[in-house]
Amino acid sequence: MARKNNYSSEANYILKPHLLFSLLSDFNMYMGDSLRSIEEGRVSVAFATSRKPIHDTFFYLCWLLSSGDDLLNKIQYSNKAKDYDISEFKRGKSDFIITTLSNAIDEVICPWNGKELYELLYTKDKSDLASVWNKSLHIITNDKNHTTNPKNLNFVFANNDIWNNLWGYYYSVFLHIYHIAMRVAIKIFQDIFKISENYRVINQVILDIKYLEIIGIEDDDIKSAYKYILEHTEFYCDKCASIYNNQFLLEEILTKNLFACQHCGHMERVGNYIIDDPEIEKIINNRRIII
Ligand SMILES: [Zn+2]
Repeated sequence: MARKNNYSSEANYILKPHLLFSLLSDFNMYMGDSLRSIEEGRVSVAFATSRKPIHDTFFYLCWLLSSGDDLLNKIQYSNKAKDYDISEFKRGKSDFIITTLSNAIDEVICPWNGKELYELLYTKDKSDLASVWNKSLHIITNDKNHTTNPKNLNFVFANNDIWNNLWGYYYSVFLHIYHIAMRVAIKIFQDIFKISENYRVINQVILDIKYLEIIGIEDDDIKSAYKYILEHTEFYCDKCASIYNNQFLLEEILTKNLFACQHCGHMERVGNYIIDDPEIEKIINNRRIII
């Protein structure tokens, strides 16, 4: 109806944030379970529950960023879900997937280019990840690239060496993909809410510092540049409005995942998106921290 009345851009304006937060909610529900499973050593379950968010939902976040109106129009006006089905694109439109991934990760620190990311996530013959996903979801697989050997059942008789290798593989791959997905989602969020360049930089610096630390990159020049930016930025507590001591704050950002107000003890996550807009803050802070 909106398109008939020529209101499709207004419809997309409303639908875009709705789709972003819905996709994120779906992504986090599955990945939350996957991360809990890997933490507890249930390796095949961790891979099985990661397939939908990483293989499917992540692509739609990339599509929403790189060509949002196209995705929103297809969801609203297509007569067939096939028109926007990732499985259909894999069968004959790999160029579209590669372009979408490439455009979305353009501004993100990413160990792969768009084509490599496509091969990792979507090709059966070149990807170890596709093989693990397949085997974690099926007890016997007949796909020529991941055929179950005779006298075996997928992962049923796996020994500790196999589990330990897969455990390490999970973290080596998903750490990067999770980071990319987060950056893609943040970019969409920033564009929707027209976040100013200063806040984009501050939040990117904090995210990059944590990412570089986790992947073990020791680059003193980058770190001191980041530290300089944070030391010269004024942060205040959302609860009591006191100005934070930057040295304490910096130390906590660098070494922890939570930071506390020196005055009232109010606790915040380092991963919180930092912003000074009461309306957006209300959205961001409308949740509890459970320690
Ligand atoms: Zn405070």
